[in-house]
Amino acid sequence: MKKKIQRLLDEIESEYRYTRGMTGKASLDPRVKAALSDTPRDKFVPQGSIDSAFDNNPLSIGYGQTISQPYIVALMTDLLALEAEDVVLEIGTGSGYQAAILSQLCNQVYSIEYVEALAATARARFEKLGYDNIEIMAGNGFDGWPEHAPYDGIIVTAAATQIPPPLIEQLKPGGRMVIPVGRPYSHQELKLVEKNRDGDISIKDILGVVFVPFQGERYE
Ligand code: SAH
Repeated sequence: MKKKIQRLLDEIESEYRYTRGMTGKASLDPRVKAALSDTPRDKFVPQGSIDSAFDNNPLSIGYGQTISQPYIVALMTDLLALEAEDVVLEIGTGSGYQAAILSQLCNQVYSIEYVEALAATARARFEKLGYDNIEIMAGNGFDGWPEHAPYDGIIVTAAATQIPPPLIEQLKPGGRMVIPVGRPYSHQELKLVEKNRDGDISIKDILGVVFVPFQGERYE
């Protein structure tokens, strides 16, 4: 198990070096690396995929959804540049793996999942594994989760055709959002959205990616 995680971390590091020209990240943040190394990905995948749990690949989790590729989980987490006291919103709980990583790097994670059965499974998983600073809501993440806003970090793990305006609103000044934007199953761009202290927004393209589609978008 330790060997498998080490191999996975080595692969992520090598992919970081390979993509540094696009992402501006030459190596994994040591804190993100520690969180990856402490998170048992085999506990977040279906029984039949346990042998592939530490491969640097996305895997099916049912309902047409996937647990993201570990390299992408690492990169998105890294881009959020979290501090210990931060509060983070995730859209797309899925297996809960990304939320589990985030929970070790910040104070509280709120995560919204569209598929009720996935939300229930992830909730049970967090309880069993002892992650006690993650709260899950089943619903449409398009509207964010206003009760706990504003957020220091927002991470969206399904590809939207545009950036949902409620999420920009719920970002704290000084906060960051990482979100894949593009058409379903076609070119998508991972974007880093930053809100500065004055509330101005800047958006950077980071990397071409492939994510499952964001459900229930409702732009005016
Ligand atoms: N972060 C997840 C990746 C899951 S894949 C993990 O670590 O496993 C993306 C997830 O986004 C899917 O579970 C999908 O059901 C969910 N999703 C899609 N549209 C959504 C929406 N509008 N609100 C909340 N979740 C959504």
